Amino acid sequence: MRTLAFGLPRLGEKRQYKSLLERFWAGKITDTELLSGMEALESERLATYAAQVEVYPSGELSLYDPMLDLSVAIGLIPERFRPYKGLTSYFQMARGAKALEMTKWFNTNYHYLVPEWETLELSADPTLFVARYQLARKLGHEKALPSLIGPYTFLALSKKAGGQPLSLEDLERYAEALLPVYRQLLEALLQAGAPAILVHEPAFVLDEPPVPLIGYMYHALQGLPLYLLTYYEAVDFYPRLVELPVRGIGLDLVSNAANRAALEQYGFPEDRVLIAGLIDGRNVWRANLQEKLKEVEALTKIAREVWLAPSAPLSFLPLTKAPETHIPSAVWERLSFAKEKLEELRLVAQAFAGVPEAQAAVQASAALWAQEMPGKHEPTRARLAALTEADFQRPTPYAERARRQQEVLQLPPLPTTTIGSFPQTEDLRALRKAFREGKIDPETYKTRIREKIAEVIRYQEELGLDVLVHGEFERSDMVEYFAERLEGFAITTQGWVLSYGSRVYRAPIIYGEVWRPAPMTVEETVYAQSLTSKPVKGMLTGPVTILNWSYAPPGKTREQVAYEIALAILDEVKDLEAAGIKVIQIDEPAFREGAPLKRRDWPEYFRWAVRAFRLSARALPQTQIHSHMCYSEFESILRHIWEMDFDVVSIEASRSKGTLVEEFTRFPQWDRQIGLGVYDIHSPAIPGREQMAEVIEAARRVLPDSLLWVNPDCGLKTRKWEEVTPSLRHMVEAAQDARQRVSSVRK
Ligand code: GLN
Ligand code: ZN
Repeated sequence: MRTLAFGLPRLGEKRQYKSLLERFWAGKITDTELLSGMEALESERLATYAAQVEVYPSGELSLYDPMLDLSVAIGLIPERFRPYKGLTSYFQMARGAKALEMTKWFNTNYHYLVPEWETLELSADPTLFVARYQLARKLGHEKALPSLIGPYTFLALSKKAGGQPLSLEDLERYAEALLPVYRQLLEALLQAGAPAILVHEPAFVLDEPPVPLIGYMYHALQGLPLYLLTYYEAVDFYPRLVELPVRGIGLDLVSNAANRAALEQYGFPEDRVLIAGLIDGRNVWRANLQEKLKEVEALTKIAREVWLAPSAPLSFLPLTKAPETHIPSAVWERLSFAKEKLEELRLVAQAFAGVPEAQAAVQASAALWAQEMPGKHEPTRARLAALTEADFQRPTPYAERARRQQEVLQLPPLPTTTIGSFPQTEDLRALRKAFREGKIDPETYKTRIREKIAEVIRYQEELGLDVLVHGEFERSDMVEYFAERLEGFAITTQGWVLSYGSRVYRAPIIYGEVWRPAPMTVEETVYAQSLTSKPVKGMLTGPVTILNWSYAPPGKTREQVAYEIALAILDEVKDLEAAGIKVIQIDEPAFREGAPLKRRDWPEYFRWAVRAFRLSARALPQTQIHSHMCYSEFESILRHIWEMDFDVVSIEASRSKGTLVEEFTRFPQWDRQIGLGVYDIHSPAIPGREQMAEVIEAARRVLPDSLLWVNPDCGLKTRKWEEVTPSLRHMVEAAQDARQRVSSVRK
């Protein structure tokens, strides 16, 4: 048995990847310095692999994104980038003015660059891939396997020049164009001495893949030494998959039991390597290695040759837990980030081979998991156990709530509001940092935040907004802020993960039962409310988003954890109400993205996700509950959104008016107030009032005036004050204009 790992994070222990790229983009280092910095990083990465596993990739250290690398290597470079050369061209495609579209990579928080098929005339340029393999050779890793996105996944994630996805017919045509150049790339790598190639095909796990086309594509690559990796889910066409003419096939044996059951049912071909994805590549927990060892033993009875591997690339795990010594030791011992996963692979393989040191480690791991995980909280368990259906329902129907809320709030038609955050300026970030580092005392910090709140309340009153916010100046991140204040969470200091390009984020780790020891937002919200007679919206992050943007604890269903978080948020809702807050927004931007990859699993996800939100939002009838989601591709989920039973929702609409209108005509039950984002906050452009009037009018065509709000499509924290002020001014004017039209219709 051998061990294989892949996807070791690009970032590096000191985030060298990020700083190299950012210094290069800022013109502070040259091309040569960038590339030699990356060489040093690659050398470190390869050595990390080699210290623990036998088979590992070369060439993973993309300068931006592996999908982009493949676009470039097959000559899929849209005309508008042709005037540029080399690295300039590459980074123009990645992040220039008219860069390629970026979108989420499967169900991770990483974003890839979408291949844009402007032409079917491709030409292979293997230089980049070959150079990367040669670098590995030069560094003494000649056995490292070049690693490429597979041809089917590449096509499945592609779009036509106009932005439409490829139809089945397109897929077939484009495959004809792609396969010969793809083959040339592989052959060039083999000529350079690569022993075999790792081909990533995560798109095999998506719904209803075109199996005959996949078969056709791999027959076109027949004869090449390929190891094919699938991950993020089970494959629905196992019998056909294992017949593909490749040397080895990787299966995710962690996400669920389906691949394992297929192995049992159909067996595994004699002449292929089973790459058994047994170590969880998606979560931060150590495995019970004894169980893994048993599983390996069982698999060796099914397949003749088994390689032990992670269930998915390690790319979206933090690199190592070593610096996180502030985490309670009983939790820390159970953690396994990317580097530690490599060690787990080695230990299981060595224990299988009878190495005593490894066998002892395997036993220790079983003993560790036999002990209880810290962070148990009896009162939370009792609360969960006592939940009844009534806890998931607001007792008063919406129509009655809306009447009572309007009595309290007295809002004009088409009320205006914002989504919560206001610009986070340099001085504000410096202030938070100084506080974190203990350079200013809590009192000074509090005073400074209060000054900011007072300013932004005055500012919103001057603009004439109807429902105000406190500005979220005390928050750097909408999930981390709550994770830091809730029990059951651990926060890393260096646990950064790439989101795209050089952008990184740090997800909190949920280990124990989640509960709220003290109010989290009441002080700031109440202070803001004390300064104005207009309603101030309390701002909370919803349970589904907190869960989806954190690492979930082992041994519990996501549903259960979502309810724990929901109860903590509910406590906050109750305290805000008791302190006189009349409007509360519970943000759920990750509500939709938490949905499983396969459509058939959606009903179950939305069932509990909707319930978790409702549990957190069980406010008094006169409290107006808002939610916010920054997308509008509701497709078939509008019903689930409606089932969340909020009073008001704000969504993005400025970039996709047409489709949204269609959604609402297909769902006539819709009866909730809705704020269509009338302008796109992701762009620095200042929208004019006519432009916003158009969005308002588009909404008025499908929804009654009495349901409409006017707001930007997301929080303003990434914008500058110079952009926000005129934009909001135009927005308030557009709302006032529209009110005139509304009242003249009524007369
Ligand atoms: N209330 C948050 C803000 O305004 C919402 C952010 C989000 O939707 N991602 O920043
Ligand atoms: Zn948003």
